[in-house]
Amino acid sequence: MRELIDQLAAEHTLPDREFAALLTQAGQGDREYLFHRARRVAQGRFGNRVYTRGLIEFTNHCRCDCYYCGIRRSNRQASRYRLEQEEILDRCATGYRLGFRTFVLQGGEDPAVTDRWMAGVVAAIKAAHPDCAVTLSIGERSGESYRLLRQAGADRYLLRHETATPAHYARLHPPAQTLERRMGCLQSLKELGYQVGAGFMVGSPWQTAEHLIADLRFLEQLQPAMVGIGPFIPHRDTPFARFPAGTLEQTLLLLGILRLMFPGLLLPATTALGTIAPDGREQGILAGANVVMPNLSPQGVREKYSLYDNKICTGEEAAESWEKLDARMRAIGYQLAVDRGDAPGFETVRRDMDRS
Ligand code: SAM
Repeated sequence: MRELIDQLAAEHTLPDREFAALLTQAGQGDREYLFHRARRVAQGRFGNRVYTRGLIEFTNHCRCDCYYCGIRRSNRQASRYRLEQEEILDRCATGYRLGFRTFVLQGGEDPAVTDRWMAGVVAAIKAAHPDCAVTLSIGERSGESYRLLRQAGADRYLLRHETATPAHYARLHPPAQTLERRMGCLQSLKELGYQVGAGFMVGSPWQTAEHLIADLRFLEQLQPAMVGIGPFIPHRDTPFARFPAGTLEQTLLLLGILRLMFPGLLLPATTALGTIAPDGREQGILAGANVVMPNLSPQGVREKYSLYDNKICTGEEAAESWEKLDARMRAIGYQLAVDRGDAPGFETVRRDMDRS
């Protein structure tokens, strides 16, 4: 198994059979060896600095009906909210004072979020904080919409592909939502020059090693700047309420594999990872992740952005949460960076854009 890990580190890929072996047969010693190598690669690129993104969950209205998601359209128990532009700007100002230099605006596919409104929000954030990056994570939109939002100043876009296997995608989503459309969106985003993030849930219902290998192959093709992965966690008011959650072990294994496949990748230790284990995010960093995304949403709405049960939602003020997370990172030899944290290769693009 160690030879496979060495091969992955050297060649950044493996044949399917070897990926399958790593995903299904790695023992504890192999896993530690993988994490050690992945950590060394991440440290070589990023040192001991962990990039931070302030996550602002600005709407939980959603027209989609993904079977796994707590804010799906059919969940009548969800208490819906939408932030005003001023509230978003207020959260960014607080975040900026603390050291955040990237703001991630995430939400359901809210029909009220028009291109005009969203572009206005992005432009206002960029005007107030020209040294910051804005990441959008607002689902599937038209190519024209993505173009307008990019023009307004959005730098990055997170749109997990969820699973690269069409039949599996069809079991996780209603028929109106297709993998083909999702892939088309990711392609448009790439062509428009966004730093694009794809990704998937680990341990989603019916997921197999073959599905995971298809995900890795899709990522090899897409070459995204970021990959967001986290365990699937059931939500009580969804059709998947009774499925088991994905595991910490499998998620960490995939983080290590992804780091060796894509040395410069922006790879978050996600909230879902911190939800299934109290030190899940630290373990994620120690397996090769290099990004954390603390919650910057107003206290009053955090519980309403309930994608899955028991999502971490500590009631801490943003300042407290920055300090505590920094202390946690320092305890494992890392520290939070006050930095936009662009994907390698995009720093020069940005400097050129700043000059023009
Ligand atoms: N609407 C946008 C989109 O679809 O990209 C952003 C919001 S969506 C809720 C963000 C991500 O949450 C999804 O890509 C999905 O992978 C994740 N998610 C939703 N339900 C989840 C669950 N039950 N467990 C773990 N992750 C979940």
